[in-house]
Amino acid sequence: MKVLVTGGAGFIGSNFIRYMVDKYPNYQIVNLDKLTYAGNLSNLKDIENKPNYKFVKGDISDRPFIHQLFEDEQFDYVLNFAAESHVDRSISDPEIFIKTNVLGTQVLLDAAKTYQVKKYLQISTDEVYGTLGDTGYFTEETPLAPNSPYSASKAGADLLVRAYHETYGLPVNITRCSNNYGPYHFPEKLIPLMIINALNDKPLPVYGDGLNVRDWLHVFDHCQAIDLVLHIGQVGEVYNIGGNNERTNIEVVKVILKELGKSESLIKFVDDRLGHDRRYAIDATKLRTKLGWKPKYSFEEGIKQTIQWYLNNKDWWENIISGDYQQYYEKQYSKR
Ligand code: NAD
Repeated sequence: MKVLVTGGAGFIGSNFIRYMVDKYPNYQIVNLDKLTYAGNLSNLKDIENKPNYKFVKGDISDRPFIHQLFEDEQFDYVLNFAAESHVDRSISDPEIFIKTNVLGTQVLLDAAKTYQVKKYLQISTDEVYGTLGDTGYFTEETPLAPNSPYSASKAGADLLVRAYHETYGLPVNITRCSNNYGPYHFPEKLIPLMIINALNDKPLPVYGDGLNVRDWLHVFDHCQAIDLVLHIGQVGEVYNIGGNNERTNIEVVKVILKELGKSESLIKFVDDRLGHDRRYAIDATKLRTKLGWKPKYSFEEGIKQTIQWYLNNKDWWENIISGDYQQYYEKQYSKR
């Protein structure tokens, strides 16, 4: 099988590539990534010379390039992880989110249709469902009601995937997962940001009252779920993936401080994110009952291992936070 993974130099994509390269030595895995600020080939240093792995630099919204790549490689499976993924950045600069997340998806769908791939899998997010009150869960039937430019662009992409299935019979799946955490998570996101700031004795910026609730999914459990959907997911279906680990942001921050032996006085409440969704929670019953998925990680165990990973891989994150990211960080939090 020849497999295209787009966005494979990012957080989840790189974990997925490592999982696939090890688990399926007979598959050829091609990683296509534009290497934006979030793409980092050092995420894959340990596997870059494996015979069943290859990296190609490129943009999913570059139509001629994508069609040529599909012509040359004749992929069996396409998994689209490539995206602009940070909600805060989508609030200050939405346009690139539409270009990559919506147009880029449509370009890939066209190529998948022209070259008759066996399966196209779109990696989406629970954020397309909008926000929940104190109770209830997102199921695959929950109407789409995205609230940020990021989630709107992901919802737009999901609808195109659905349309290519309904209109052209393209064999597709969509997965919608909750917040991932684990190794190689880019330092702008909540968990790595808090770990790194705590290690550096810098303030930990927490939005609003800190009571927004997220459902945390270990990235290794996510990779296993995607593997199942790719191989045995019913064509045309959507599958929700959630860790059943609901935590308020402030709870997460306190666990990190406790694990690192740091004081809660480092917590600094900052102005809330515009349009900040209050609660996300996933009902993953379909994935469990129909495809037999079982997550391995409890949040308590997963967060300990993740903190340990950041302690063991200082070079990885120090390289990132010393570059352009530093300017972004200062712009984002200096006014608060
Ligand atoms: P990430 O930002 O870490 O990685 C995205 C990758 O896509 C980067 O390597 C980047 O260089 C690449 N990319 C961006 N634009 C591109 C383009 N035009 N062409 C080719 N490559 C491009 O993101 P992530 O956290 O790994 O998320 C992966 C996918 O999972 C995304 O589609 C995201 O919407 C979805 N998702 C993520 C989470 C999460 O908690 N991280 C939750 C739900 C859904």
